[in-house]
Amino acid sequence: MLNMLNQYDKENIFSKILQNKIPCNKIYEDDYVLAFHDIAPAAKIHVIIIPKAQYCSFHDFAQYESSQNVALFFKTIRSIAESLGVDEGGYRILFNHGKNANQTVPHFHVHLLAGEHLGSITHKK
Ligand code: 5GP
Repeated sequence: MLNMLNQYDKENIFSKILQNKIPCNKIYEDDYVLAFHDIAPAAKIHVIIIPKAQYCSFHDFAQYESSQNVALFFKTIRSIAESLGVDEGGYRILFNHGKNANQTVPHFHVHLLAGEHLGSITHKK
């Protein structure tokens, strides 16, 4: 499947992880989703969750993926949070799209951050 605003780069790091060309510290996998620990964690728990389908970012994913798969992806994120035991303490999910958000890997991914108080990114002093 190749449904993107931008040309999908099969040489990006997460694509290589999906092709088993690069190892990852996997925590979950099914036919549609892969989740693994971030190599440079920004919190005590920092997990990357990706759909296996080839989307450059959230912007492409939300436009072109089926509503059913978008819903499935979000429900899988919830299950992963539950399996990590972070639902009670709380967690943050975020995705970066494009330059201003400093997206560095052009395969749509969700960051799941947890395990400590993460501060506020919406209420700046
Ligand atoms: P972005 O800035 O694109 O939203 O996030 C990319 C994330 O991928 C960063 O948090 C970065 O630490 C992580 N990352 C980059 N290369 C690798 C890698 O080879 N393995 C893993 N597990 N994470 C990576």
